[in-house]
Amino acid sequence: MAETASTVFDVVILGGGSGGYACALRASQLGMNVALVEKGKLGGTCLHQGCIPTKALLHAAEVADSSRESEQFGVRSTFEGIDMPAVNEYKDGVVARLYKGLQGLVKSRKITYIEGSGRLVSPTTVEVDGQRLEGRHIVLATGSVPKSLPGLDIDAERVINSDHALTLDTVPSSVVVLGGGVIGCEFASVWKSFGADVTIVEALPHLVPLEDEQASKSLERAFRKRGIGFELGARFAGVEKTEAGVRVSLENGKQVEAELLLVAVGRGPVSADLGYEEVGVEMERGFVKVDGYCQTNVATISAVGDLIPTLQLAHVGFGEGILVAERLGGLDPAPIDYDGVPRVTYSEPEVASVGITEAKAKEKYGDDGIATVTYDLAGNGKSQILKTAGFVKLVRQKDGPVVGIHMVGSRVGELVAEAQLIYGWEAYPDDVAQLIHAHPTQTEAVGEAHLALAGKPLHAHS
Ligand SMILES: Cc1cc2nc3c(=O)[nH]c(=O)nc-3n(C[C@H](O)[C@H](O)[C@H](O)COP(=O)(O)OP(=O)(O)OC[C@H]3O[C@@H](n4cnc5c(N)ncnc54)[C@H](O)[C@@H]3O)c2cc1C
Repeated sequence: MAETASTVFDVVILGGGSGGYACALRASQLGMNVALVEKGKLGGTCLHQGCIPTKALLHAAEVADSSRESEQFGVRSTFEGIDMPAVNEYKDGVVARLYKGLQGLVKSRKITYIEGSGRLVSPTTVEVDGQRLEGRHIVLATGSVPKSLPGLDIDAERVINSDHALTLDTVPSSVVVLGGGVIGCEFASVWKSFGADVTIVEALPHLVPLEDEQASKSLERAFRKRGIGFELGARFAGVEKTEAGVRVSLENGKQVEAELLLVAVGRGPVSADLGYEEVGVEMERGFVKVDGYCQTNVATISAVGDLIPTLQLAHVGFGEGILVAERLGGLDPAPIDYDGVPRVTYSEPEVASVGITEAKAKEKYGDDGIATVTYDLAGNGKSQILKTAGFVKLVRQKDGPVVGIHMVGSRVGELVAEAQLIYGWEAYPDDVAQLIHAHPTQTEAVGEAHLALAGKPLHAHS
């Protein structure tokens, strides 16, 4: 610590999750002298309690489904069950390897890494365990934690949040998932594949309510077929403990019993008691307010990631961290087009999208100002080989570019990279229609949807 006592860093970053460490890595690449303060584990939520462990569970779930359903493909195998300690060992192994790699990366970039809980004490100072770190610039990146509802206590045993769900060493026999957003749907999908009875309770009219309504309905159809139950437009009223677990009451009078209740009603910013308000940083509902360049109202302070009111996604945190580093490094980065950020729900089936929904496009361009096409995966060879159902839906501005791409089906998350390029380049359907897609791949469905919207459908009825 002695080397930091008299140093004024170019940038001091508070929080070493996706947003904070991406900022640190880019800033050091640009020649800045960087201090990164982290009270837990480098990598934050995404690496330790979010993206990576959940996707490992989802992969194990896919393997379980494949072995259970192998006879459909003429392969004889016996599914004997889930060995949860072994699943956790696999999941934790993935996390540990990435964690080690990230620690090595931060070290190799000569970033001063400080373990401890930090607090903002002036527009240019962070204090950690009595030590003051001075920075020409400060970046707040303290992230988010799971929220609950008023009066709903998380006891970490029968009423749990996503952090606890990742450490279970048995598969629950039944679960009520409160919240049908991305996190709720992903856990519901995992547990169903692992053999649990699952019921999702969602207050809004649809699962994954931020997605295009057609995508939500398609996911609901697929979940229904998989035997995942859900109550939509249903508000939580209360929970009581029973001998076997919990009894969850809904405002519509229904009750659902299960071994566990997973509360997945969103994540709130980590900003309380960290000195932000005292130093004069403008806040809104606990989030730090920023402009399009992640700059707060205090000239020396920027903020990134789940702490600011933008999409709560790891790659958004990466993008914001990089943007801030480049701005502080004297480059001229463009603000982020948040509509152009790809979004994936990694359930079975997956939901992936980029751009705006049909409803938003109608608001923006008028009911007659848009055109849409939905290409059914029934016409896509590879999707039939995989036995998956779903679609690729395009929304375009009439006589203009494609402004939204929405997809449902196994593995469609991998298609979002092309969708993102199409959206980002403001491509017209004709531009994409002339690109030949490899056969037989699911990417062909993206090509075919554009052929259809350009008025020349191939494997689709016109
Ligand atoms: C179950 C789950 C699944 C998810 N899946 C995906 C996914 O598939 N794809 C995706 O893009 N996103 C996913 N996310 C979201 C993603 O994890 C977050 O958007 C991302 O981690 C936000 O990064 P961040 O840096 O803003 O915050 P965080 O990752 O939360 O990092 C903040 C860091 O700051 C530290 N900190 C806080 N206060 C202090 C302090 N006072 N002093 C020092 N350090 C402090 C914390 O310890 C933490 O490490 C998922 C989230 C969850 C919960």
